[in-house]
Amino acid sequence: MASAEERREELVALFKEVQACTRCPLHETRTKAVFGAGDADAELMFVGEAPGRDEDLKGEPFVGRAGQLLTEIITKGMGLRREDVYIANVIKCRPPDNRNPEPDEVATCEPFLVRQLELIGPRVIVALGKFAAQTLLRSKTPITKLRGQWADYRGIKVMPTFHPAYLLRNPGDKRLVWTDIKAVLAELGLPVPPR
Ligand code: URA
Repeated sequence: MASAEERREELVALFKEVQACTRCPLHETRTKAVFGAGDADAELMFVGEAPGRDEDLKGEPFVGRAGQLLTEIITKGMGLRREDVYIANVIKCRPPDNRNPEPDEVATCEPFLVRQLELIGPRVIVALGKFAAQTLLRSKTPITKLRGQWADYRGIKVMPTFHPAYLLRNPGDKRLVWTDIKAVLAELGLPVPPR
């Protein structure tokens, strides 16, 4: 296993590769590629779908309305800071008009996420929404069935849960995500923060 410094250096090199990537047509319409952000030694990693408009402009993951809700989940729900975890997406460039990523775009981009996961080596991945969960788990099972059930990605524990953008439209399902988040806290040996 490479040293922490070597892994950080490789992550920086991968970041640069993603910024310059022209492997799929999404590079033609992106403003900024969104690599990911957070602690390179994080025990907990969140994986979303793809950048939206705000993320494309800033080059940072989860900075729009759904991102604000994710930040609340991390800070208020888990008692952590965004800087304590690592946040990335399956797809690094925004699909035009927020359409779903095409299978060939996923296939082209996924190796970047695979390498990020290898370098960061989290203990737990929270897969946010159908797209991240089905991609990581190579599954076609609906997110309603996957969520709340521990799964495995190359020896890393995966907790699929609903995407924050879905929660903005369906706030009644926040209680289900809270159940999933408590399971993640327990797995990491972290206390449930006082409400
Ligand atoms: N939705 C995602 O899946 N990822 C982001 O970075 C922002 C919104």
